[in-house]
Amino acid sequence: MGVAGPEVSADVTQMLEQRGIPYHPEHQINVVVPATRRLNFTDGASADFDLLAYVPPHRAPRVVRESGLTGESGWIAVDRHTLETRFPGVYAIGDVVSIPLRLGKPLPKAGVFAHGEAKTVARNIVAAVAGRPGENRFNGYGECFVEVGGGKAAFGGGDFYAEPNPVVTLRTPSRRSHVGKVLFEKSWLHFKL
Ligand SMILES: Cc1cc2nc3c(=O)[nH]c(=O)nc-3n(C[C@H](O)[C@H](O)[C@H](O)COP(=O)(O)OP(=O)(O)OC[C@H]3O[C@@H](n4cnc5c(N)ncnc54)[C@H](O)[C@@H]3O)c2cc1C
Repeated sequence: MGVAGPEVSADVTQMLEQRGIPYHPEHQINVVVPATRRLNFTDGASADFDLLAYVPPHRAPRVVRESGLTGESGWIAVDRHTLETRFPGVYAIGDVVSIPLRLGKPLPKAGVFAHGEAKTVARNIVAAVAGRPGENRFNGYGECFVEVGGGKAAFGGGDFYAEPNPVVTLRTPSRRSHVGKVLFEKSWLHFKL
């Protein structure tokens, strides 16, 4: 969790170590060998796995890339508070945008940010339709649960727009946070869809 700062990153790395899970940052997978459950990395190193949950290379959908909205990065540049693109009155939210942060990494692509950005843009569009100034601003605040197993989760969150570095904290894993995560998930699945 590099963007959350060295302390939160160290906490998460420690959780992995405590469970005997090796961590291989900055490694590119070259080959997956299902028969032996082995990953070969481009630098010649390898690692074994029990369960592979692999996230493929992340990029904007073709319809977005071909819309003329994306820049050289392949993502859409926006005003970080209003989510307006370089085209007045055209907004972009969620994973298709890239919002650079002062520390050199972009705002993480996460549902919590897509949600906050959506609310900001929706409210400002409503205001515009009603002839009022759109005064909502997305503030870069985000939070998440980190499931650690054993019926526990850690709850973290903070101000990702804080400068020079995001101010993010991660609480000690607890059953209470795990229950909070389950309720949060249920509220989305049952009430918001
Ligand atoms: C493994 C994994 C774990 C994650 N865990 C978390 C987490 O714990 N917390 C968190 O906050 N975030 C998490 N995220 C990130 C979160 O899922 C994304 O940031 C969020 O879904 C982005 O929302 P979005 O609406 O921008 O994009 P998406 O959810 O990707 O929605 C885009 C939609 O557009 C559709 N689409 C694409 N092309 C077209 C087209 N041509 N026509 C019509 N529709 C199209 C796609 O099918 C998709 O449904 C996780 C992501 C992954 C992959």
